[in-house]
Order: sequence, then structure tokens, then C-alpha cells
Amino acid sequence: MTVLRFHNVSKTYQSESGNKTAALFNVSLEVRQGDFLAVVGPSGSGKSTLLHLMGGLDRPTGGDISFASESITRSFNDLSERELARLRGSEIGIMYQGFHLLPTMRAWENVALPLVFRKISLNERKKQAEELLEDLGLQQRLNHYPSQLSGGEQQRVALARAVISKPTLLLADEPTGNLDSVSADYVLDLLRTIHKRYRLATVIVTHDQRVADIASKTITIVDGRNYDRPSMNDSRARS
Ligand code: ADP
Ligand code: MG
Repeated sequence: MTVLRFHNVSKTYQSESGNKTAALFNVSLEVRQGDFLAVVGPSGSGKSTLLHLMGGLDRPTGGDISFASESITRSFNDLSERELARLRGSEIGIMYQGFHLLPTMRAWENVALPLVFRKISLNERKKQAEELLEDLGLQQRLNHYPSQLSGGEQQRVALARAVISKPTLLLADEPTGNLDSVSADYVLDLLRTIHKRYRLATVIVTHDQRVADIASKTITIVDGRNYDRPSMNDSRARS
């Protein structure tokens, strides 16, 4: 099953002063259920932009993005901001670059946050968050605040928060980027374990060769173009 399909997707940022930056150009790709996909490419090539579009956090300026799971098949173009946010909440888990945990919330509260918008009682939310954190080796850290956690621990909390809703698609932006190699290996192992257990489609933006090595597929982005699959109507990508 194809979870996510990009058809000739482009993204041009426009600043208030009118300056334009073409960040992605005619990108077509597919993410299938069970994929463990690495997105690689030099800094500034458009990887984070690609991931934001995949997560419906931002809109393309051209082309179409469609999403399909067991419960929904939709083009992002057809969804309002609200509908997109709802889809994200139930179907897409995101690990942001940096950890983006809420500093005033305990580890379990951060993880339980996506469940607040469901009809799930506080006790049940707490139980689910704690079980998942224990599963990720953080049983001693349930009540810690983010500032009391190491980078690797924060990333594991971010992973738990991303998958607590049992999404169809997991997106991670440089999940090992700020970690020492031991913590990075641990987080990678967990990403693989979670990927297998839930049969998630997983997309990881990375500079880390180890991530690319274990991926089932790699997408290379250079200057906003999908280097692996030059677009037919993009003469620059072919030359
Ligand atoms: P990567 O993640 O591969 O380093 P990005 O997707 O962050 O690349 O950026 C791609 C290009 O788009 C860069 O030239 C960057 O400066 C530009 N860019 C990214 N985000 C914005 C934004 N919000 N507004 C304007 N330009 C942006
Ligand atoms: Mg980036």
C-alpha cells in the first residue's frame, strides 16, 4: 500500500520583502507501508522542507501530495488546515529537528499530549504514555522534565510522543543529529524496533551514514531535486 505520494511537488518560500527561495522542484516519490526510507543530501538541499510537506506542516506551492491509510485516502490539497491537523494527529508522527519537547511538562506528559485531543481519560493517557516510555527504556525517567534528560533520552521521549497515537507514517528530521554515537545507535535501534512492530512507513532525514545503511531505500535530494528520479520535464536534472 502506498501511504504517501508526491506528484511533481514544488515549494518556493516567499519572504515579506518578496524574495523567493525555490526549496523543492518537481519532486515525485512514493512512500509505501513498511518502507524505512532515508532522505539524504547536503545541507540546504531541501530535506527539512520535504519532511514538513510530508507531514502536512506546510503546503506545497505546486504539485500534489496524497495520503492513504486504512481509514482515509485524501489529497492534502483538498483538506482545510483543521482537517490536515486532525489527519496529522491521528495518522502522522513527527520527530522534529531538535527535540521540541515542552519544557514545563514531565516526560510522560509530553508523550501523552497527542492523546489529549482524543476522548481518552487522564488515567488512561498516563498509563499508555508510561508503558511506552518503559518500553523505550525510560522507566526511571517518567517524571523528569526535558532539562533533566540527556539528549538521547529526550530523543526517546520525542519518539514516544511521535508514535503514541499509532500513526501510519513516522517522520524524523535528523534524529541522531545532536547525539553522541552510543545514544545515536540506541535511538536508531528503537526506530527500527518501532518500525517493525507497527509496520510503520518511516522516513528519516539524515546526514548519518549509519541511518542510510540500514534504510530499505534512500532518496537523495540535491538543490531541491530528487536526484534518484530525475523528472521528465526538468531538463536541468537530466543534464
Ligand atoms: P535542509 O533541511 O536540507 O538543510 P531546508 O529544507 O531547511 O534544507 O532548506 C532548503 C532551502 O530553503 C534553503 O535554501 C533554506 O534557506 C530555504 N528555507 C527553508 N525554510 C525556509 C523558510 N521558512 N523561509 C524561507 N526560506 C526557507
Ligand atoms: Mg534540515
